[in-house]
Amino acid sequence: MADAETQREAVLDALDNVAERLAEEREYLTDLDSAIGDADHGANMERGFGKAADKREEFVEMEPNEVVKNVGTTLISNVGGASGPLYGGSIMFASQELEDGITAESSVAFAEAYLDKVKDRGGAQVGAKTMVDALVPAVHTYKKSVEQDDLPPLEALAKAVDAAERGVAFTVPIKAMKGRASFLDWRSVGHQDPGATSTLFILEELLETAEEYLDGEVDRDARAEDAVGRGE
Ligand code: ADP
Ligand code: MG
Repeated sequence: MADAETQREAVLDALDNVAERLAEEREYLTDLDSAIGDADHGANMERGFGKAADKREEFVEMEPNEVVKNVGTTLISNVGGASGPLYGGSIMFASQELEDGITAESSVAFAEAYLDKVKDRGGAQVGAKTMVDALVPAVHTYKKSVEQDDLPPLEALAKAVDAAERGVAFTVPIKAMKGRASFLDWRSVGHQDPGATSTLFILEELLETAEEYLDGEVDRDARAEDAVGRGE
């Protein structure tokens, strides 16, 4: 990607887009968490990323990787519950992969480090009805698309977002094995996981931002988009 200045701008814009989207989706995420949790996921995500976006003035002085790291620490200190340390700690840990700048290669390393940390901290594997169900297909698809299929980062990211969307749909029919929703046992079946859903929204905003900075537009897989209905 471009010079450090442009990279920082891209990271700051991505942060704004994510914060705005999560604020818009607050009620939807709250509804999902009311069904199988304690109805705070919308508020948690809006507060955490909102606080991070509010630090824009502070962040303009920093290197791109430092901005990402600070987003992580801001989430840790402002979001309680399971998602704060999972999102925040993993973003913070993975930010070290961006020390030499943001490239196709370092973004794959970031994604893998992020996924590893979420799995490590939360102890959830695929099928436990958590954010891991969106992340695993997304990260694996992104890595394969960049490293094996030689796709440009933007197309790779679009495929990753489609994979995450199918992952979110996969959380609906399965039983929660981790987190608060697991207390419901079989009653969690039939509900979409809030954390997998917020993960998808974040990825969608990263794609949106990447389209702007990498000067391109990509088609999402229509079938994947249909897979997650809003129930509106
Ligand atoms: P809390 O469950 O503490 O109220 P949130 O409502 O903000 O926190 O976040 C709930 C989401 O966190 C879940 O939908 C799930 O995706 C994710 N989650 C919970 N526990 C774990 C875990 N052990 N590993 C991975 N993700 C988890
Ligand atoms: Mg909750």
